[in-house]
Amino acid sequence: MIRTGLSFLPLLYVGVLAGAVLLLWLAGEWRRSRLRRHEWRAMGQCRLCAEWVRPVPGADLWRCPVCRAWNERAVPSDL
Ligand SMILES: [Zn+2]
Repeated sequence: MIRTGLSFLPLLYVGVLAGAVLLLWLAGEWRRSRLRRHEWRAMGQCRLCAEWVRPVPGADLWRCPVCRAWNERAVPSDL
């Protein structure tokens, strides 16, 4: 058993609490960035006015709500 003084307990408590807060914050940031990346993949950019819009899922053509131009769904490439 490790013998420590009573003054070590507050330091241990703060260390464990700060570690838990740091882990929760990192997990939240990782989750938030994953959701943001997923949302950007679903977005489409108008080729005429460069407005970012969310096209209708499954449709090959979508109409820009700003300039009313027809746009084609861009196929993401792995280049
Ligand atoms: Zn447009």
